[in-house]
Amino acid sequence: MDAWKSETNLAIFLNADHHKSFDSCSQALEAGYDTVLIDGSALPFEENIKTTHGVVDYAKSINLEITIEGELGYLRGESKIQEIVEIKPEDFTKPEEAKEFVEKTGVDRLAVVFGNIHGVVSKQEEKLDFSLLEKINKTVPNVYLVLHGGSGLADEEFKKAIENGITNIHINTEVRVAYREGLDKTLKESPQETTPYKFLEGAVEEMKKVVEEKVKVFLNK
Ligand SMILES: [Zn+2]
Repeated sequence: MDAWKSETNLAIFLNADHHKSFDSCSQALEAGYDTVLIDGSALPFEENIKTTHGVVDYAKSINLEITIEGELGYLRGESKIQEIVEIKPEDFTKPEEAKEFVEKTGVDRLAVVFGNIHGVVSKQEEKLDFSLLEKINKTVPNVYLVLHGGSGLADEEFKKAIENGITNIHINTEVRVAYREGLDKTLKESPQETTPYKFLEGAVEEMKKVVEEKVKVFLNK
């Protein structure tokens, strides 16, 4: 990881995503991750605060440069193509709770729920509540807001989310789909190929295309 960083001169961070307990977070931190998401969103509010605060304290005792992300609100869906994912308004992040959560835990980033889901839905339109996002952003102006479940969202939705405070976006399913399609294509075209780095090349190229497209949208280029 360090070699890759210095070779490319890029700001690359190794993130341990959606870790659900103090123990798994501390293992990731001890293994050298730059950042961890302690996802206590399924816990009762007070428990989420307590667990997240514990991880923040532990991380800062190891290295002050490690950043910690917390999560508030219930994010549904999985990193795959689904038909429909039911979204309930009570799952959304509540601005007052966000304020208390950020103050009591000391997190650097906050994953929020405002209509977003993990993965892609094929028979439903995702509806994001930008006025809620704006409210959350105004209530907790000093943390970086994270959008999970970016796959399947339109460019315009990303732009609006960024305008309303999102600074960190997760895209997984679209990259996985590109990998799979690239791999399928190469295997079909070169059925005799047995060298992994050669038959994986198509998969890597397809993933690159998706990432490049998204980076352009995020940077408004
Ligand atoms: Zn996520």
